[in-house]
This record gives sequence, structure tokens and C-alpha cells, in this order.
Amino acid sequence: MLPLEEVVEKSLASVTTLKPELIPLWESCRRFAAEEMYAQVSLPGFDNSAMDGFAVVSSDLKQASEPTPVTLRCTGVIPAGSTAEHAVSRGTCMKIFTGSPIPAGADAVIMQEYCQTNESGKSVDCTDQVKPWENIRMTGEDVREGERVLAKGQLINAGAIGLLAATGHHEIKVGRRPKVALVATGSELEEAPQELAPGKIYDSNRTMLASMISSINGIPKRYPIVRDDLRETCSVLESAFAENDIVLTSGGVSVGDHDHVKPAIKELGGTVGLWKVAIKPGKPFVLGQVNGRPLFGLPGNPASALVTYQLMVRPSLLKMQGATECRLAKRAGILSESFTNKGDRRHFVRVAINPLGQVSSSGGQRSHMLRSLANANALLDLPPESHLTKGESVEVLIIED
Ligand code: AMP
Ligand code: MG
Repeated sequence: MLPLEEVVEKSLASVTTLKPELIPLWESCRRFAAEEMYAQVSLPGFDNSAMDGFAVVSSDLKQASEPTPVTLRCTGVIPAGSTAEHAVSRGTCMKIFTGSPIPAGADAVIMQEYCQTNESGKSVDCTDQVKPWENIRMTGEDVREGERVLAKGQLINAGAIGLLAATGHHEIKVGRRPKVALVATGSELEEAPQELAPGKIYDSNRTMLASMISSINGIPKRYPIVRDDLRETCSVLESAFAENDIVLTSGGVSVGDHDHVKPAIKELGGTVGLWKVAIKPGKPFVLGQVNGRPLFGLPGNPASALVTYQLMVRPSLLKMQGATECRLAKRAGILSESFTNKGDRRHFVRVAINPLGQVSSSGGQRSHMLRSLANANALLDLPPESHLTKGESVEVLIIED
């Protein structure tokens, strides 16, 4: 049996980053930057007002207070998007709005709440002092022109899209979305809404894997269910390799007589390795390639398929898109119940972590059980021959999708 980390390394090594593509910025959420991005303008691009009020010379208002207001002559208005035609000099002010450029000569903005415009509109009584540069947003205090605003491989979120748009970008190079073939093997598998004949079950892996793949930008393609037959396995795998960047299979990867994934890969001229990974659920894992295209073979049991996907496939699909961070996020929590692992493999327990950080089992943990999958939002990594007690602090791996 191999340690999980070694198999993850092997999986990552078997895939390469896809050629990037240029896409509109607004479509880039959740994708990964394929190059560093730099600000084309500073933020703010010019000194501007943080308030609606009056641009003033701060020293004019040194004595201003409610009982002794200072009266300034108002020489104009600076609406947003325009610039002042003249400077502010001592004893004068200009009406200004949030985001309007500070006129030359002014060094502060007094909020309009502290100002009383006289009837003519020509003068303003100010009832408070202002410090130099008060209520002024300074050029470049957020971002300087030429500064890096996004790292290569960084996950693009809505905030990054806002930052990029504000610094003059309208498109971005991102890692291409991998096309992922989904091949489910098993003569027992049937597809709803077909009626189930005796001994048959509904396929769930293709659909479950497709949803997890979509949620990290992959483009899943579901192939018809493959019966336990070498010819059929070869024929579907041949199309799957030809039409996709990577192939995922479920089932048919143990050493049973009816397991045809490995022989099929060999038949297609590829190479293949079967690894026993020291984790539960999900011991067998196949890594193969045909014509340089990788194949990951997952166990058929749904819980095993989900856990091995999250731990061993997801990182590779992220690497293919150029992501720098390929691991599952961790979250600290407190156990609401005790957990025991008597076995010799790490047990990835399906758990639910609530908004308060309390961690509890999400239900039955055997690898054919699906109910607990629906209730799980995290995995608890329980070491071999270990016991964790209720109330203990732990870190769980978040499964977001
Ligand atoms: P296998 O890995 O092919 O030996 O399958 C292990 C178990 O997983 C068996 O009980 C299969 O019926 C079940 N199984 C295999 N493929 C799927 C699938 N696509 N959806 C749901 N269950 C499956
Ligand atoms: Mg099978």
C-alpha cells in the first residue's frame, strides 16, 4: 500500500497544464490566471473627495466651531467626472462630491453636514475644523500604476475581477477548462428513468463526478455505461481518450475477473499502474495513459469514488488549469462526538461542520453508502489506530461542491 501523498504526487506528475485562453474578464470568476496582471492605472487615479461637501484650505477653518462659524466664498461646483476650472485660494471653497477631483489649492474637504450655504449660494458657513488631507483619497494609496494586481495561478474571485476592471483590464488569460471523459463500468448499472431489472442498480458515479468536475470549471462528458466486457470497455475508452483531455473511470479497477479497465488501456497501447492507496474508503486507484492523455481509474463504490476524486483527482484538474493552490481547504473545528479508527489505513470520515465549527459524522461510513455523502461538507482525516475524543480540536478538509 502506498501513502496518499505519494499517489497524489504521481497523479499530479501525470498531467500537464493546458494551453491558456483569452476570455472576457466578466466570465473569469473561479478560473485561474495564466499570467501575472499589472495595474494600467493607479487607484485612486487622482486625489479625490471621500465625501459630499466643500473643498477648502484647511488652515482657513482653524477657528471654526458651531458658535463661531467661518464663512468662505464659494467659487464653483465640481460634479463627478469633471475637473475644476480654477484653484481654491484662501478664504474660498468649491462644492464637491464623492469621487470628484480635488481642485488645486485645496487640501481638505469639509463634510456638507458642517456647512450652511447662504441663500445666494455664493458663501458657506463652516461650523467645524478639518485636518490637512481630511476626507481626501490620495492618488495610488490603494494600487500604484504598474504594480502587480494578480499572481499567475491565482484563483480569480469577484473582488479580483473588480480590481482588474478598475485597473484597466477587460479580458484575461486563464487556464483552459479541461474536458473530462466520464466512463462508468459495471454490467449492473442502469440509467434512470429506465426500470431496474433484478440485480441492477442506478449509476450514480457519472452524475456525481460530473457535478464535482463542473464546479471546478471542468467540462464533463458522460459516456454510455460500459458493461463488464473488454471489447466494450476498449471501444468507449478509445472515444473517451480521443475527445478529452483526461479520462475518469469508475468501477472495474480491482483485481476481480470482471475488471477490464486495466486490460483495455493496455489493448489501446497505453501504460497503466494500479495502486493500493492506504486510505479508507477507496483503496484501489488506477493511473494510466494512452497517447500521453491521462486516465484516473476510481473505485466503483460511490463513497470511495467521491473521496478518491476529492483527494487524488481534483488537484490534478486544478493543475491542468494552472492553479497554484490545488489542495482542499482546511477548517478548524471541534468534535461533537468521538471517532475511532481501528484499521491500518487513514480513514477519511464524511463529516458535517456547521457554521459554529462543530464537527459531527454525516452518517453511515461504509463505502457503498450514499446518504452520508449528501449530508457531508468535509472530510475528517482519522489516522490509523487512533481515537479522537469529543471536544477535541481538529482540522477538517472542506468539500465545497
Ligand atoms: P467495482 O469497483 O466495479 O468492483 O464496484 C464496486 C461497487 O460499486 C459495486 O457494488 C458496484 O455495483 C458499485 N458501483 C460501481 N459503479 C457504480 C456506479 N457508477 N454507480 C453506483 N455504484 C457503482
Ligand atoms: Mg464493477
